[in-house]
Amino acid sequence: MSTVARIELFHVAIPLPETFYPAWIPGFPQRENRFTLIKVTTDDGVEGYSAGTAMGRERAGLGDLLGPYLLGEDATDIGLVQQRLREISYLGWRNYWIEPAFWDIKGKLAGKPVCELLGAQPRTIRCYASTGEVKSAAERIEEVLKRHEEGFDTVKLRVHDADEAADIDQVTRTAAAVGDKVKLGVDANQGWRVTIVSDSPLWDLARAKRFADACADAGLAWIEEPLPMDAYDDLAALSAYSRVAIAGGELHSAGLPELKMMIERRCYHIFQPDAMFAGGIAQVFEVIRLCREHGLKYTPHTWTNGIGLAVNLHLVAASGFADELELEYPLSPPGWTVERRDAILEEPFVHQKGELTVPSRPGLGFTINQGVLGRYGHRFFNMDRKRLMWFSLRHRGLKASIEIDRRRKEKKAAQQAGAKGVAPG
Ligand SMILES: [Mg+2]
Repeated sequence: MSTVARIELFHVAIPLPETFYPAWIPGFPQRENRFTLIKVTTDDGVEGYSAGTAMGRERAGLGDLLGPYLLGEDATDIGLVQQRLREISYLGWRNYWIEPAFWDIKGKLAGKPVCELLGAQPRTIRCYASTGEVKSAAERIEEVLKRHEEGFDTVKLRVHDADEAADIDQVTRTAAAVGDKVKLGVDANQGWRVTIVSDSPLWDLARAKRFADACADAGLAWIEEPLPMDAYDDLAALSAYSRVAIAGGELHSAGLPELKMMIERRCYHIFQPDAMFAGGIAQVFEVIRLCREHGLKYTPHTWTNGIGLAVNLHLVAASGFADELELEYPLSPPGWTVERRDAILEEPFVHQKGELTVPSRPGLGFTINQGVLGRYGHRFFNMDRKRLMWFSLRHRGLKASIEIDRRRKEKKAAQQAGAKGVAPG
């Protein structure tokens, strides 16, 4: 058994080459690609990594939970990791982005890429170019043609204007100009509205229906997040009404239970859970199975960083949907570039004529660029068993620490005896 011997956490902030204005946070001048990086090391020296997108240093205290909850546990027991993250979620922290680090370890120990642990072989995946900023029709047409020249045959637009007519104008004019050679989708980013800087439009079912009609007439392939993520009744009504596929479900941090309910209610035609937010690899893999069972489709949101893209890439390879739908490839130069998106990786995921190849190396298949981590990262948490002991003594005192340690050992002994078929005493 490989146990969790050390947990390290890093704040990482990689500067962008130009200011990026994400459609989903109107008015916010984004200057950095920020995330929390976790490095888990086992007692036999295997390292697993994952990364959760961040606004700043909001996870500064997270280690106080992760250390005591995960150190000493079986690093390959994904069910146990899911249970620990669930326990942490009771306190208001939803951190399913951590779970893929344990798949990374599991794959490295087995000598297999994560997609193979999920039952599939590495393969090439067709991608769509996902734009990130709101633009006028003229600017958008130029951008779509540029992506098409680079090899993409599918591009996703963004609409986020207060004026409904401006949204429809961008979509219809772009489709009229390039729709014969490029398949187009559009993201309204209404799922998780953010108004921290500028105000943001708030769609209702009536507006979403009018937009769906316009997109159907323009020949678009899908509409993403046209309503709030928890507007279950309206989403189901819109999906029943729309002539264009309705997609969404990327950031459901409650994971499988909520997505299962939404699948059963047919809130979307295409479900897009991102494993970094919506329950980790294990829960999303079950969402994929449910989509298939209900005649619905899956292709994930991936707009975070190179590690998030890698995690979702393995799931797509194993999903059975890779030949039906393209995968999101975040690209919005000059602000959001592949080099800075994936800067933490030795080998960024550079598309080849609109395709990515799933890494075949064991685990998630990437290598952390230690130079970039050293330059743009700051390690704010580092705990092993010895440090955990001191942590426990300092925070709980000697008596409680000894008692906790004894009861944990008793639990492990009982579980091991149970596993061997001996009744625990
Ligand atoms: Mg989206």
